Amino acid sequence: MIQEKLESKKLYIKTYGCQMNVYDSIKMQDLLKPHGFEISHDMPSADLVILNTCHIREKAAEKVYCELGRVKELKDMRKAKGEQMVVAVAGCVAQAEGEEIFARTPFVDIVVGPQSYHNLPGLLEQIKRKEKWAINLDFPKINKFDSLKTLSDSQGSSAFIAIQEGCDKFCHFCVVPYTRGAEYSRSVSEIYREALALAQNGTKEIYLLGQNVSAYHGMGPDSEVWSLGKLIKSIAKIDGIERIRYTTSHPRDMIDDDLFDAHATEEKLMPFLHLPIQSGSNKILDAMNRKHTREFYLQVIERFRKARSDISFSSDFIVGYPGETDEDFAETLRIVKEVEFSQCYSFKYSPRPGTPASALINQIPEQIKAARLLELQEVIKEYQQKFNKQFLGKTIKVLFDKEGKHNGQLLGRSEHMQAVFAEADKSCLDKICSVEVSSIEVNSLGAKLIKN
Ligand code: SF4
Repeated sequence: MIQEKLESKKLYIKTYGCQMNVYDSIKMQDLLKPHGFEISHDMPSADLVILNTCHIREKAAEKVYCELGRVKELKDMRKAKGEQMVVAVAGCVAQAEGEEIFARTPFVDIVVGPQSYHNLPGLLEQIKRKEKWAINLDFPKINKFDSLKTLSDSQGSSAFIAIQEGCDKFCHFCVVPYTRGAEYSRSVSEIYREALALAQNGTKEIYLLGQNVSAYHGMGPDSEVWSLGKLIKSIAKIDGIERIRYTTSHPRDMIDDDLFDAHATEEKLMPFLHLPIQSGSNKILDAMNRKHTREFYLQVIERFRKARSDISFSSDFIVGYPGETDEDFAETLRIVKEVEFSQCYSFKYSPRPGTPASALINQIPEQIKAARLLELQEVIKEYQQKFNKQFLGKTIKVLFDKEGKHNGQLLGRSEHMQAVFAEADKSCLDKICSVEVSSIEVNSLGAKLIKN
């Protein structure tokens, strides 16, 4: 029986990329627990190593192959001692590379895509039966969430719930629609049950996750299709849940009155929204196949501000997309100034194999991309500082969920997602405390505890 043989085995998971991958890793950990695996933070002594990979960043696959070289050395060392190390590659690189992973790194035992990791116990059985390799890259008809819903639910004071997965938008620079498949929304009752279990385990803040969370259209308990706004209002009724956030959204899906109404009326819905735009130029937005204009994006921002005047925004920007001129880039700088984002993520464009943009011939030289990125980041920093400065001397609420680098220091997040550090004893951990902001650092706020 595999369960007996695998009792008390150590599981090491290395997670790359986004919050969705973090969530998937937690679920894999939960899934493997009844099969005798306990999580370990020590790769060399692990019986099962899973690399839960991400394909978003540049040279993602090469970085995974590089890490696998290190894993091979550890696997060989264990083999020399008569011990086994099963190696699995999961996530988006697994989906994109498939059997190529076995061809390039034959010591890998399992390759499993992001939609099929609920089959990990079966794949481990295949390896136990001495099958050379086990692979599952299906996009199953019965969604993986149906196989995962009975799992344990302790994630701490701040927790993730995947409510939606996949993407139908096909932006020309992005691999997600190919690695995560079509948009799928979980049912309201499944999500509600998960949120309730988290609240009972001490969770205070919930991040509703999805590649396109604003496209949520799950079946409600009334057999009607529910929108994200309606779902948020329902979760807000759970005692113990004090903060709700959702990410990542697409501007084109931000049309539903329910969502704006939730921001206007639901105190637990935090006044911060990450809303990627990628470029401020309509020509580049069109080339990217974003299916919205800068004017539409600004209208959406305006609607949110009308719903909740203190809401702040962050965004994603890609600079140096093929064909981007100085004028296009100037439009990107202009939109940062118009919206006054409180923080942003910005990257140089780099081609992802298999995406339409990677085949374009009008690629931008590296030094131009680098110079534009630097200029953009200066402007982003200026507005981030401007936003943060208004809090100096003010009282804000922080959910402390980590210990800081220094003794007696705790780290947490404000309602606006600013990183905040303060001197506070451990009794404040996992609590929402009032603090007075005493300093503005480059990427964080320093604060003094008022009360907890
Ligand atoms: S909306 Fe565009 S960028 Fe976002 S996941 Fe879908 S294809 Fe990728």
